Amino acid sequence: MAPLVVAIDGPAGAGKSTIAKALATALNIEYLDTGAMYRGVTYEVLRRGLEATDVDAVARVAREVKFEQSATSLHVNGVDATTAIRTPAVDAAVSHVAANSAVRSELRERQREWIVSHGGGVVEGRDIGSVVFPDATLKVYLVASPMVRAQRRVAQHGGDVNEIARAIAERDERDSTRDDSPLRQMPDAVVVDTSERSIGAVVEHIRELLNEKTEES
Ligand code: C5P
Repeated sequence: MAPLVVAIDGPAGAGKSTIAKALATALNIEYLDTGAMYRGVTYEVLRRGLEATDVDAVARVAREVKFEQSATSLHVNGVDATTAIRTPAVDAAVSHVAANSAVRSELRERQREWIVSHGGGVVEGRDIGSVVFPDATLKVYLVASPMVRAQRRVAQHGGDVNEIARAIAERDERDSTRDDSPLRQMPDAVVVDTSERSIGAVVEHIRELLNEKTEES
C-alpha cells in the first residue's frame, strides 16, 4: 500500500508551516518542511560567498550539502542553521536558488526518500502535490489575503508590513513563474483560506477532508 502523504502547498505566509505541523501532530505522523531545505541550500550558498544565480556552483552545493532535519530544526553540514535560514538575506535569495533545476531534482529525490524512510507524512512546499507527490493521499492548497500574510510575517520576524508585503509578492511572483515546477494550484487540490480561521478550525477541516479521502479508497 502507498504511504499516506498529505501535500500542503501555497504561497508564502499562507500558514503552511503552522498548519502542517499541527496537522502532523494531530495525525501522529511525521512532518517535512521542504522550504527549509531550499533555505538550507541558500544559507550554504551565501555562507560560501557564492551568487544565488551561479547555476553550476549552486547545483554543486545542493548535491554536497548534508542536512539533519527535524520538525523544529535544520542542521546544515553539522551547523545549527534553524534561525539563520529565516533571515531577510535568505528570503531574498531563496527563490533564485529554487529556480535552479539541478537543485530541484536533488531536493525532490531527498524528499521522496524521506517519505519512504518515514512511511508517509505531512509535506509542505510549493510543488508537493504537483510534482514531488502527484499521487498524494490529499492535496491542500492554502491561501490567505496578502495583508494577512504580511502581518503574520511581521508578527514572527518583525519589520515593516508594507516592505514585507512587497518582498512576499516578489518571491511569489518568482516562485509562480519559474519554468521548473512553479507554484500552482492543482485541479485536484482542495483550496483552504486561512485568513479568518483559527489554526484549530483549519486543522479540523483538513482532517475531515482526509477522512473522506481515506474512506473513499
Ligand atoms: O516555505 P518557505 O517560504 O520557507 O519556502 C522558501 C522558498 O523555497 C520558497 O519561496 C520557494 O522559492 C522555495 N520552495 C520551493 N519548493 C518547495 C518549497 C519551497 O521552490 N517545495
